[in-house]
Amino acid sequence: MDVNDVIETLKLAFPNAQLVLPNTTAFTALNTSYLSSAQADLQPRAIFLPRDRDDVVKFVRVVKPYALQGGVNLAVRGAGQQPALGCNNVDDGITVDLRNLTGIHLKDDDAIVSIGAGERWGEVYSKLQEKGLAVTGSRSSMGGIGGLCLSGGLSFFSTREGFITDNVTNFEVVLASGEVINANAKENTDLFVSLRGGGNNFAIVTRYDMRTFKQGKFWGGTVFYFPNSFPSQVEAYVKELKDPEATDETHIMIGAGYSAAFAQISEVMCMNQVYYTKEVENPPILDPYISMQPQLDQMRSVRMLDLVDAAKEQAGHGSSTSRVSYINTTVKADVHTLMAAYGTYVNALGPLKVIEGLTTSFTLQAYPKSLLDKTASAGGNSLGIDPLDGPLMSILILSFWQNKEDDEKIHSTFKGVIEAVDQDAAARGTAVPYKYMNYAAPFQNPIDTYGEGNKAKLQETSTKYDPEGLFQKCVLGGWKLFD
Ligand SMILES: Cc1cc2nc3c(=O)[nH]c(=O)nc-3n(C[C@H](O)[C@H](O)[C@H](O)COP(=O)(O)OP(=O)(O)OC[C@H]3O[C@@H](n4cnc5c(N)ncnc54)[C@H](O)[C@@H]3O)c2cc1C
Repeated sequence: MDVNDVIETLKLAFPNAQLVLPNTTAFTALNTSYLSSAQADLQPRAIFLPRDRDDVVKFVRVVKPYALQGGVNLAVRGAGQQPALGCNNVDDGITVDLRNLTGIHLKDDDAIVSIGAGERWGEVYSKLQEKGLAVTGSRSSMGGIGGLCLSGGLSFFSTREGFITDNVTNFEVVLASGEVINANAKENTDLFVSLRGGGNNFAIVTRYDMRTFKQGKFWGGTVFYFPNSFPSQVEAYVKELKDPEATDETHIMIGAGYSAAFAQISEVMCMNQVYYTKEVENPPILDPYISMQPQLDQMRSVRMLDLVDAAKEQAGHGSSTSRVSYINTTVKADVHTLMAAYGTYVNALGPLKVIEGLTTSFTLQAYPKSLLDKTASAGGNSLGIDPLDGPLMSILILSFWQNKEDDEKIHSTFKGVIEAVDQDAAARGTAVPYKYMNYAAPFQNPIDTYGEGNKAKLQETSTKYDPEGLFQKCVLGGWKLFD
């Protein structure tokens, strides 16, 4: 039995054009609709488009026996926004594209929103905003639900509301057996906690229930400025994080980067994306991050906005037909460590500037104490971050470029930068093992960074809910549990 036989069997099971085959316009459109164009280097032998949960059940039941005998490999795709090669697509196998699993429904007196696995955050925000509500989700309206709800995730409201994954109250999943079960604080609690950070290792999630909260307009936007002010930004950020009286209404991202578009103005440009999540104009707490001089006034977008606007603006920064990579690490919020990391990044840029279409950025995003403290009361997750280690800082290097022949240069350069940052942090006593799965490069192993105990629990969950290892042996992409 090989992949062709599996596809013939699936054609009989799903006669309604849900199996999209190569060399068709529909296939090309689907396989080139990832955030990173590099995912289209992988050519599945078919893309399967379930219409609903029952189609996922039927698919799993038909395919599993073949897959476990080595007949076909699989990939599971939400919105396809994560760039790590192969995490959401597969060469010569079948990619399950969940885009038609839509539906956004409020329930329990609007306290919970039920979100189909094929939705994007922008749609969720539009629906909730009509009722003065919001939810923790991607800052980009184009972001998919799965990547964030299964990995941790930072939102505009994370300082106040905790990790995105900690706001999921129920996962409806299709197991490898084809059985549909729910994982929440009362049922299948081991799976519930494992899915909060465990990625695509246990099941196909068909629906996410998330807690909503009241949310009005808020203040914020983007400021572009010059590198001479960057050290003061890092200092202000760390000072705020360490202030025991710090408000939990701020959400701050500060960064620096290179783009040919800006190169004539400055070799390195800096960008802050800052928010105060209440309807307050010009809150003084944001002053340090928006009032530095000089800045590019014509590009400043700080204003009163709503969630839908804010997420659209972020999507504008990220939509791309380029090759894309993420790589990340986490350190303690320490000015010297962060400035050294920034220096290492900037020093590495020189040889990369010739690369066609290169835009790269170095972004600092905090895990404040208030965010880390929320995990326990929300029922726990598998990330293994000790709140006592906080406040922490995520360092993300994000890059966009045009041509495949430049992949190696980009990947090896930024791998070197992150390794140097980790070594430097270790020497200073500010290292933290955690790597965020959603921002991980393929060679990084976020699950190992969750700690031995958490990894062992994830392995137990896998053995219990997927004893034959469909999601370990046959869903190749993402980060697996057994070495
Ligand atoms: C402009 C921009 C803004 C961003 N903003 C944020 C942000 O605010 N916060 C943040 O944390 N990240 C952010 N990101 C990262 C980005 O949003 C995520 O990488 C993306 O949303 C991943 O979700 P996805 O559904 O598209 O996942 P995919 O790329 O489709 O999948 C990612 C992984 O999850 C698995 N998976 C997805 N859905 C399921 C499912 N239903 N069942 C089982 N496994 C599944 C896949 O198999 C794969 O391994 C941003 C990125 C950009 C470009």
